[in-house]
This record gives sequence, structure tokens and C-alpha cells, in this order.
Amino acid sequence: MVLIGVLALQGDFAEHKAKLASLGAKTFEIRQLKDLEEPLDGLVLPGGESTVQGKLLRDLGLLKPLQEKIKQGLPVLGTCAGLILLSEKVENQTDNYLGTLPVTVKRNAYGRQLGSFHANLDFAKLGQVPATFIRAPYISEVRDGVEILSQHDGKIVAARYQNQVGLSFHPEVDDNDIVHSYFLKICQTK
Ligand code: GLN
Repeated sequence: MVLIGVLALQGDFAEHKAKLASLGAKTFEIRQLKDLEEPLDGLVLPGGESTVQGKLLRDLGLLKPLQEKIKQGLPVLGTCAGLILLSEKVENQTDNYLGTLPVTVKRNAYGRQLGSFHANLDFAKLGQVPATFIRAPYISEVRDGVEILSQHDGKIVAARYQNQVGLSFHPEVDDNDIVHSYFLKICQTK
């Protein structure tokens, strides 16, 4: 059985835990530095507010150790704010957070009118997934080696680089397992 650490500082980590548990994975909440001693097979960075999560990661001394683990190959799934935390570059910001995923993201990219919406997306050639976007970012640029997993209206909304998967949307809130199963497969074969 795989053990997945879910960052539980802020945001919708509980929904990820429930989805992962329903697929037979064991989950563990990451709240402080010593939690990283667990023998994790994967890591989930949930949606929420990236500025708040980023500050907490820094204040708790979690940023560098997590960055190291991801660089060493720990599979990671970042959704929405989690994608922002992973991205190498955030448009209109000088700072980034973990910065391990070689993409640029645009925060709150859909404006006020389209703050939240649903769509059906082709995901990683595995079929259609229902996708919920909540004040979502999109990926405005990808660098070498990044695989585009999904697009919506011509914008990249899911991408993978080696052990890292980043999504604009929230697969944990819809009744569909394709995205989490895809991630668990990466964790099982790492
Ligand atoms: N708008 C949020 C941010 O910039 C992300 C929203 C989300 O995670 N649903 O961090």
C-alpha cells in the first residue's frame, strides 16, 4: 500500500485524503518538519491560497526540505494553489515557492466573471474528466521536457515533468478517479 503525504496547512486537503483513501492509498497529513520523516511514496499539494501556503511553508521550514525531496524524485501532485507552489515562475511576481516545475503560471487567470466554472477535459489520453476551476491559474508557458496533459480553451491546465504533476483544477471535488489513479500509478512505480 502506498503512503501519500498530503500538505495540510490550509485549503482542501481533506477532499484529497478522502479520494486517495477511496482508491486504497494510505494518507498522512504534513503539518510540520518532523512529518517529513515518514517514508512517503508521494505528496499532494492541495488547492487553497498559494500566498498563505507559501508563507506557512517558509515559516515552518518546510520549503527547502520539500524542494529537495521533489528534486530527488518524490512524486508530487499539485492542484490549483499547489500548482502555483510548484511552478518555477509565477507571472507578475518576483518570488516563487518550491519552483521545481519548469513552467510559468498565471494566477487568478480567468478573471472575476469566470472565477469558478466546470468543464469536461481530455486528460492524459485517458478519457474525459470533469474539472472544477476555482479562481484558477493556468500554465502560460512550459519549458523543455514538460508534457502537456490537458488543455481548456487553448490554455494549458495540466502538465507533467518527470515526477511532478500540476493541475489548474480540483479533481478531488468531482466524482471521478482518473486523475488520482494516474498519480497513484506514478507513486507505485517510482
Ligand atoms: N487563487 C488561488 C491562488 O492564487 C488558487 C485558488 C485555488 O487553489 N482554488 O493561490
